[in-house]
Amino acid sequence: MRKQHDALSSDSLAISYNATLTHIKDIAERSGRTPDDITLIAVTKNQPVEAIESLYKLGHRHFGENRVEEASAKIELLSAQMQSNNSPPIWHMIGHIQSRKARTCASLFNHIHSVDTIKLANRLSRFASEHETTLSILLQCNISGEHTKSGFTATDAALNTPQWSNLVNIISQIADLPNLIIAGLMTMAPITDNPEASRPIFQNLRILKDQISQHFPQLPMNHLSMGMSADYAIAIQEGATMLRIGTSIFGHRNTK
Ligand SMILES: *Cc1c(COP(=O)(O)O)cnc(C)c1O
Repeated sequence: MRKQHDALSSDSLAISYNATLTHIKDIAERSGRTPDDITLIAVTKNQPVEAIESLYKLGHRHFGENRVEEASAKIELLSAQMQSNNSPPIWHMIGHIQSRKARTCASLFNHIHSVDTIKLANRLSRFASEHETTLSILLQCNISGEHTKSGFTATDAALNTPQWSNLVNIISQIADLPNLIIAGLMTMAPITDNPEASRPIFQNLRILKDQISQHFPQLPMNHLSMGMSADYAIAIQEGATMLRIGTSIFGHRNTK
């Protein structure tokens, strides 16, 4: 985590946050989309709780973390100030989850973007049932085929392909689990210098979402979680409803 003295001052945080919001709105309008259909998730990994508090005071509510331990420490620190408010923060888990951490995840987060195995979905369902809550989950899909990326394989998932049958089988099983709502799909594009390289990945995620919605009309399947600081403009053009943005808001992370 950053030390307090090199965290962004709250003034410059307000400036970069508002600039990001304005940019999102502009691109949405120019692509014929309604800005309200797009949720900005401020990715606060490696950021201090002070930065989260500052953003919260600016009216922001959606926050994303990618590691369970870090998130649980921060959420605990912040809960006294923020959960008592009648507009509490909404926490999104966006990183890979080891199944032994599923219980903690189910108690901390409102939305889980990184469901990448049936086993994990099973555990989340069980723990959400114990907590008497319902978890909104997204199925993480590996569209690019990079071996370093988690997610259900969807490099070639057009109708009638083996990958598609496999996905239908997986989704049928997850859809039957209690206390989970399959709200959509998430993907990560490869890191490159060229944001345009993300476009076909985002297009394919959208096509896949439409295919799944057709096949499983009972699922809500409203969300596409795609786009980070480098490529969120393209993600908006391609239909993203959730953007996961860290660097554009907070500046570069101190990765230690
Ligand atoms: C860190 C992270 C982001 C945000 O990345 P930035 O480039 O800082 O905007 C988005 N999604 C996931 C899964 C991440 O781990």
